[in-house]
Amino acid sequence: MLQPEALLMKLKEYRKKRHFDVSPEPEGQAELSKEKSARLIYVVQKHRASHLHYDFRLEWNGTLLSWAVPKGPSLDPSVKRLAMKVEDHPIEYANFEGIIPKGEYGGGTVMVWDRGTWEPEAEDVDTALRQGELKFTLHGKKLRGSWVLVRTRGYGSRSDRSWLLIKHRDAYASKEDITIDAPRSVVSNRLLAEIARDEGGEVEEAATGDPVTKATRRAPEKKTLPRSQRARSQKA
Ligand code: MN
Repeated sequence: MLQPEALLMKLKEYRKKRHFDVSPEPEGQAELSKEKSARLIYVVQKHRASHLHYDFRLEWNGTLLSWAVPKGPSLDPSVKRLAMKVEDHPIEYANFEGIIPKGEYGGGTVMVWDRGTWEPEAEDVDTALRQGELKFTLHGKKLRGSWVLVRTRGYGSRSDRSWLLIKHRDAYASKEDITIDAPRSVVSNRLLAEIARDEGGEVEEAATGDPVTKATRRAPEKKTLPRSQRARSQKA
């Protein structure tokens, strides 16, 4: 069982980068929750920071192991998506959807893009991580079935942080582009722009992370509506 000091050590980099008096992100508890569920949390947070990316997180040993996936996950087993290992995040981070203030680390809009549980396929997760090949099954709303994270040589000084996220062939594999077809939050059904609008973020910047599809196309702004529609749209 992980001791509080060991947990704090794991969250050291996470805490160092953030100002919890300014950002609404969770600080992370010093103690592990007593009522620990047997199921391991899985979450993907879509994050429109300086660049759009998807933060892929798996609960393990009291924190969320985290990878930043610039292009997001692909359901197509022939597609390998770069996943940069980043600092462990606190478990509570899985519930975070909202705005990180401008100027803060990761400043921008965060959406809970997918959430559920995960199961390792290997007997020994720590060894699998050390060896750079973790196979696992996801039970999310958007991502399901068997996947692998495999460490790659990557580029330059950050080479040890470069992994690839790949879907295994199974019933959940598909050619569908899930990032385009399912762009909304699984907890609030909002797009990035709608989260930014509701929570005082940068709406136009956030909107650049939303795909332009039938599912996201919205009615024109009020000012461009003809007079006859104006009253109706204001009531709404
Ligand atoms: Mn991020």
